[in-house]
Amino acid sequence: MKAHDGMYIAGAWRPAATGDTIPVVNPADEQVIAHVPAGGAQDVDAAVRAARTAFPAWAATPPAERAATIGAVRDGLAARKDEIAGTVTAELGAPPAFSQAVHAAVPILVAGSYAELAATYSFEERVGNSTVYAEPVGVVGAITPWNYPLHQIVAKVAPALAAGCTVVLKPAENTPLTAQLFAEIVHDAGLPAGMFNLVTGLGPVAGQALAEHEDVDLVSFTGSTAVGKQIGAVAGAAVKRVALELGGKSANVILPSADLAKAVNVGVANVMANSGQTCSAWTRMLVDAARYDEAVELAGAAAAKYGDRIGPVVSERQRARVRGYIERGIEEGARLVAGGPDAPRDRGYYVRPTVFADVTPDMTVAQEEIFGPVVSLLRYEDEDEDEAEAIANGTVYGLAGAVWAGDEAEAAAFARRLHTGQVDINGGSFNPLAPFGGYKQSGVGRELGAHGLAEYLQTKSLQF
Ligand code: NAD
Repeated sequence: MKAHDGMYIAGAWRPAATGDTIPVVNPADEQVIAHVPAGGAQDVDAAVRAARTAFPAWAATPPAERAATIGAVRDGLAARKDEIAGTVTAELGAPPAFSQAVHAAVPILVAGSYAELAATYSFEERVGNSTVYAEPVGVVGAITPWNYPLHQIVAKVAPALAAGCTVVLKPAENTPLTAQLFAEIVHDAGLPAGMFNLVTGLGPVAGQALAEHEDVDLVSFTGSTAVGKQIGAVAGAAVKRVALELGGKSANVILPSADLAKAVNVGVANVMANSGQTCSAWTRMLVDAARYDEAVELAGAAAAKYGDRIGPVVSERQRARVRGYIERGIEEGARLVAGGPDAPRDRGYYVRPTVFADVTPDMTVAQEEIFGPVVSLLRYEDEDEDEAEAIANGTVYGLAGAVWAGDEAEAAAFARRLHTGQVDINGGSFNPLAPFGGYKQSGVGRELGAHGLAEYLQTKSLQF
């Protein structure tokens, strides 16, 4: 069997036990580009058993050796960067330049950071008369979405391996080819059989079987809040560890002293990147009344410039969902400034870059995650930072956000009032070592850096 046709279990490639497959579609032209195994409970069980068998030896491997192994994976990612970018473009539809700069490049950074952390992290500390050991949790079930297909895999697998855990990955059904490529890279890096296993398949079948498997010690899930709630309930009932990275509806708060043009242009670009399919996207732009009309004009012009440069959304279902939200925004009285629900092309799952003005906090487009290229502009009364704060914090989500002001200290002071896991100050750039994760219904736990590593550890105290 050619590697790309199979699942990777116990160090070997194989079809699903049932022989069933799932088609993979290129969202830019709607063509079927591949078929992957539709794994089920039997395949998940084989993968979990392989991970369990591999666990004791990997847990006992010195951190420096674990670091070298993760370093080899990092080098494999770097060597196959172009192939990764091409695969993400083919199955997700991201424009080639974005696939290179983000989808292929960020996982290399993150894998590199865990190669370093595995070597330097303190797995043992003295607290009073105790020695506290940080030990691996065990077998990890990782369930990932399609929007940043490789990043989300690496952000779980690299820290899990660094901690000494072994992994079974169930990637999203829309983007399994990137996951297969990752499994090839892991295999070529020389990881012992069973340390990393890949089961492709449908969420309610393979994903659910993995989340429910009694020999999985920790479930790390990234995806929708609806599925996250189910997985949290299953894990709770079994008293097993769970990490949830869920949806968002992040606010981009532009304070009266900010450079308006910069804040609006960067804000629109932040939403349009990856065709709006970013959980941390700043989909609500908050502007003070005095400069609101100017902001609306700037945002409309910025979105209109995107034209053909934006990729499709991932699937027909996702396109229908995004268009439905745009129609709902119009029905509820939001003013369409750019874009709209109509199809910009005959072929491919494209959505127009869309800007809504006169959005009020109670509207659906101000409350629900759309996961498409749609930005909503909301107004707060001049100088009334309390109102801006109330609007920004007024959703069930709390993943990320942005604050812009004339000086960083003013923006940072406001950012401290936001109930979210991350806030970018005046356009601060992505930090692969900063903990990423949600307050409120955006999730439980953190990914990236040392905080992300700690998710895969449990502590044992010895008193002397
Ligand atoms: P989804 O929840 O439908 O699917 C995510 C993963 O879960 C997929 O692998 C899917 O197959 C699997 N799954 C689906 N049903 C399952 C079930 N019953 N049991 C077990 N697994 C199941 O979400 P999606 O549509 O793939 O991704 C989009 C959503 O993910 C958005 O809401 C977005 O905000 C969120 N997301 C969050 C983050 C974050 O870090 N917070 C990152 C990316 C995406």
